Amino acid sequence: MSKGVVIVTGSSRGIGRACALLAAERGYDVVVNYTANAAAAEEVVAAINALGAQAVSVKGDIAEEADILDIFAAADRLGPLVGLIANAGVVSLSGRVETYTADRLHRIMNINVVGTILCAREAVKRMSTKHGGKGGAIVAISSVASVLGSPNEYVDYAASKGAVDSFVIGLAKEVATEGIRVNAVRPGMITTDIHEASGDPGRVERIRPTIPMQRIGDPEEIARAALWLLSEEASYCTGTFITASGGR
Ligand code: NAP
Repeated sequence: MSKGVVIVTGSSRGIGRACALLAAERGYDVVVNYTANAAAAEEVVAAINALGAQAVSVKGDIAEEADILDIFAAADRLGPLVGLIANAGVVSLSGRVETYTADRLHRIMNINVVGTILCAREAVKRMSTKHGGKGGAIVAISSVASVLGSPNEYVDYAASKGAVDSFVIGLAKEVATEGIRVNAVRPGMITTDIHEASGDPGRVERIRPTIPMQRIGDPEEIARAALWLLSEEASYCTGTFITASGGR
């Protein structure tokens, strides 16, 4: 018996993929979203089906409102929405603020902030008891960058995650009596392809010694935190954060 449908944005690879697979293991049907890598998304769908859950993959860029509406329409066809893991997010080339172009900033803010907020809007429309829904949970994948600031690397990315954190706090309070909990995970350095976008191949190894636990995290370690926040185990948690960063 399915627990209902969870949308995981950006779930063909990395942290989103781990969240999608763990959601299926925990009894949810899953909407898998991607922008380019259809084969990877289909592999995630097949793995979810093999676990006995339903899944569908939807190509969609969360910087585009029409694409977000497509993702949620696919969820509506699958069953009642009970959760959103707002995971899709990007970084750009590592560099100081003086090098940032307006296009770079618009892209990061459109995906990481506007996209996350629009996805949450669609989830609230479906899950809020105020709109006839049965409640649910939203988990944003923020970053420990929101509190570290990422100087000399991605201050813009850090600022976008700071905006996500403020949004989580505010939305949590806004919908607290409507059956929806809103929380976030702040990952530290996790083994995924995202680091390639920094254009700095030595970055991960350079940062590793500064991590108190002296190791990079696995996507599954973030997925477990996200799925806990999504679950009834976290029934009294809203507007809060789990920092999973090896002590950074
Ligand atoms: P990743 O390995 O680069 O994977 C990105 C995933 O998102 C892929 O499935 C990709 O689809 C999809 N995607 C990219 N842009 C998208 C868009 N505009 N709309 C919809 N989907 C999009 O990333 P990750 O490292 O797993 O990061 C996931 C989240 O965790 C991000 O929000 C990131 O900021 C956050 N985070 C990551 C780390 C880390 O160290 N990895 C640390 C802190 C926070 P395609 O396969 O089609 O390209």
